[in-house]
Amino acid sequence: MSDNNVKTISRRDFLKIGVGTAGGVVAAELAGLGLDPGKVQAQALTVPIKKGKEVATVCPYCAVGCGQIATVDTASGKIIDIQGNPDSPVNQGTLCPKGAATYQLAVNDLRWTKVKHRAPGSDQWEDMSLEVAMNRIAQLTQQTRDANFNEFQDVGGARKRVMNTYALASLGGATMDNEWNYLQQKLMHALGVVYLENQARI
Ligand code: SF4
Repeated sequence: MSDNNVKTISRRDFLKIGVGTAGGVVAAELAGLGLDPGKVQAQALTVPIKKGKEVATVCPYCAVGCGQIATVDTASGKIIDIQGNPDSPVNQGTLCPKGAATYQLAVNDLRWTKVKHRAPGSDQWEDMSLEVAMNRIAQLTQQTRDANFNEFQDVGGARKRVMNTYALASLGGATMDNEWNYLQQKLMHALGVVYLENQARI
């Protein structure tokens, strides 16, 4: 295609071609699956748009801090939807897959709400009270640290004071928010843990 030909296609024409092509591909793929694109479109139009009080908030997951809008049901006060905030200069309405699933972090019947424990050698998970679990974790953490703490270490032929342990590691999951990760980092460094990773990269 010559330069002249490129210049004759306006942005509007380009978008029309793109949308038309994409729509044609989707329709062809739906037809290939035995679905009637017309019925699919009609069904999509019947999906209700969730309405309620819109509250601007920030995605809790990582240090990017994307803006979100949480829609709250005015009668029950419960969250009914969370979307990207188009007014946010950070994400301009977009969310990554994790941020797009924030609603399921807040509202999810499938989430376990009790501590599960599988004893050594067992193939069964059993409920454990939070207090017992926290005490056990604290006890094992201190026991492991005390048994494997390095006050001094030979570094490059010189004896150095390092005050660390290589026997413990901390791995933060994606549902840990910035604040939790900050505190976790402080605690782990105070214990001398050097193997420390979390999703927020702080
Ligand atoms: S997790 Fe995704 S949506 Fe949330 S702040 Fe980070 S990049 Fe944005």
